[in-house]
Amino acid sequence: MINLTLTEALQKLNTREISAVELTRAYLDRIEKYGADLNCYITTTPERALADATASDARRAAGNTLPLDGAPIAMKDLFATRGVRTTAASRMLENFVPEYESTVSQKLIDAGTVLLGKANLDEFAMGTFSKTSYFGAPINPWQLEKQLTAGGSSGGSTSAVASGLAIAATGTDTGGSIRFPAAITGMVGMKPTYGLCSRWGCVAFASSLDTPGPITRTVDDAALMLSAMAGHAPLDSTSSTNGFTCTAPLEPILGDGKKLRIGVIREFNDVKISDDMKSLFEKRITDLKSMGAEIVEISIPNILDALAAYYIIAPAEASSNLARYDGMRYGLRVEGRDIYDTFKKSRAAGFGDEVQRRMVIGTAVLSSESYDVYFMQAARVRRMIADSFTSAFEQCDLIVCPSSAGTAMPLASDLKPLEYYALDLFTVAMNLAGIPACSVPAGLATNGLPLGMQVVGRRFDDMRVLQLAKHIESAADIDNRPTTIMGK
Ligand code: GLN
Repeated sequence: MINLTLTEALQKLNTREISAVELTRAYLDRIEKYGADLNCYITTTPERALADATASDARRAAGNTLPLDGAPIAMKDLFATRGVRTTAASRMLENFVPEYESTVSQKLIDAGTVLLGKANLDEFAMGTFSKTSYFGAPINPWQLEKQLTAGGSSGGSTSAVASGLAIAATGTDTGGSIRFPAAITGMVGMKPTYGLCSRWGCVAFASSLDTPGPITRTVDDAALMLSAMAGHAPLDSTSSTNGFTCTAPLEPILGDGKKLRIGVIREFNDVKISDDMKSLFEKRITDLKSMGAEIVEISIPNILDALAAYYIIAPAEASSNLARYDGMRYGLRVEGRDIYDTFKKSRAAGFGDEVQRRMVIGTAVLSSESYDVYFMQAARVRRMIADSFTSAFEQCDLIVCPSSAGTAMPLASDLKPLEYYALDLFTVAMNLAGIPACSVPAGLATNGLPLGMQVVGRRFDDMRVLQLAKHIESAADIDNRPTTIMGK
């Protein structure tokens, strides 16, 4: 049963071939068996899951079936879930049980999903390997013996879906945290247009960049998840009223003489990537051409400065967002001599090294001496990149580019902070511009590990992004169920 995609499982549930309770039990059994080894969940909610599944079967029997009724999912532990511990993978929130539900998780409840648990991540979503988690890193199920990273920050979500410990999951993407982990685990990761899925109730990292989205095994599954997750939230002033609806499998946008201009970013040609990534990307481009797409070279002149701009803007916003953790109202509290000492001790004990580094950088770039030369300059670069994308989309309908330079690295790799930051080169620009980007499997590298490529679109062109991603998915045609864990 766990081999079924979300789309397939919903069909079988609707024809009563399987029940939500059976499907949920199948997932809970696997979580029991492999959950601890993969460390993809911080908290599991088996009782809640069975109750959700029972309610789902009852709805179906009564003829009130919801769009994702009975789908057992993992929720990134950044989304507040009422009555269920929400940690952001931080010691600061180790025992935090929210009294409210995030908009995205509420929408998924309203769509009939079953909550299996809260997925592991980098602390406050700051990181690329999920190694900054206070609860230890999740493991990539591919070539398990190598103990590879499942990526970050949504690494628990990608580990869970790739290993069959959830049928789908939520993620958030501030600078690549859905797309990078999806790419290196062979999954589909969709970062929608900024604002399409509300940030309300999602622990804030960098508010102008944070973007919730789905992580799934197929592009059709991502479209289904996104339909449930998207939508306006009155309490979130940056959430869009556009919404996103997709009920059936995505329609082809290529073939039968259909015209589509696909842009390739010139500046990325000079970036060093693995031979495998290069050849798979070229193969997929050739496939798209043979389906009738016209390939055009476009230019985003400042795209290589996106990293520098991101690593100023994101920490600046983080330093402000994380000021609320002061040991006073909620979160960890370490008693000090006086109130200031309590602030200091609580924050020093509650935050890990990377989070502290970001707050120091953020505070520095916002200081009066640095504001103009760092923060304002980064904001200008951001505007130029967004404008360049707008002009590029006058020459093409969609853009494609790699998701990463290479395949998953061992968790034991000892990278310096700047080396981690450099891994975000292919993903951060889309966050700065607020545009949709989906990472879809491009194929398997010669080492047998998956690689992904992105489809990027105009603001609110999320549907066509997914439609083109689906063509790439069929062309790549990989089996993204790693045999190491599935056959165990
Ligand atoms: N790796 C990036 C960072 O560390 C992106 C994180 C994210 O998208 N949440 O900031």
